[in-house]
Amino acid sequence: MGVRTWIDSWPVYRQLTGTDPLGRGAAARSGPTARLTPRVASADRVVKSICPYCAVGCGQNVYVEDGRVTQIEGDPDSPVSRGRLCPKGSASLQLTTGDAREHHVLYRRPYGAGWERLDLDTAMDMIADRVIEARRAGWQWDVDGARTRRTLGVASLGGATLDNEENYLIKKLFTALGAIQIENQARI
Ligand code: SF4
Repeated sequence: MGVRTWIDSWPVYRQLTGTDPLGRGAAARSGPTARLTPRVASADRVVKSICPYCAVGCGQNVYVEDGRVTQIEGDPDSPVSRGRLCPKGSASLQLTTGDAREHHVLYRRPYGAGWERLDLDTAMDMIADRVIEARRAGWQWDVDGARTRRTLGVASLGGATLDNEENYLIKKLFTALGAIQIENQARI
């Protein structure tokens, strides 16, 4: 390191001779800090999304690199959250890429002590069988013994960040099934 470079490396020298007399900007910046780059700098694209955890629905920027999610941060363009995320939302990268994320259907039998893996078709058939059975067992009857078109055997509780279209389809589906207990977490 030459003498000149050595002197320039002193923050107090830069403060006294440079454009940062208060020493709160460039004068105080160290070499390692100057070489830092944002961890999202290498992302290929940014996808707008909504935090899935609660009814606030904070906006998120999802950074993608080589087809994989690499970082999730608050979206400054969101009128709801203006770039902010609470600790849960800030940790939602783990929801997409963390080791704890399940990629298979898991089933625990009644009185079972552990989880077993099912293929999706089997799981969907099991759900359909149970819906039909519960619906049939829960049909309501009027005082004359006639069956009404409602069942108490099926209910729906939606998540707060389901969008309008999803809620519309859920309402259609469950009403068609005869359910009358159709709620959403955002109203609770
Ligand atoms: S960031 Fe926090 S407050 Fe915002 S939607 Fe997610 S969980 Fe709710």
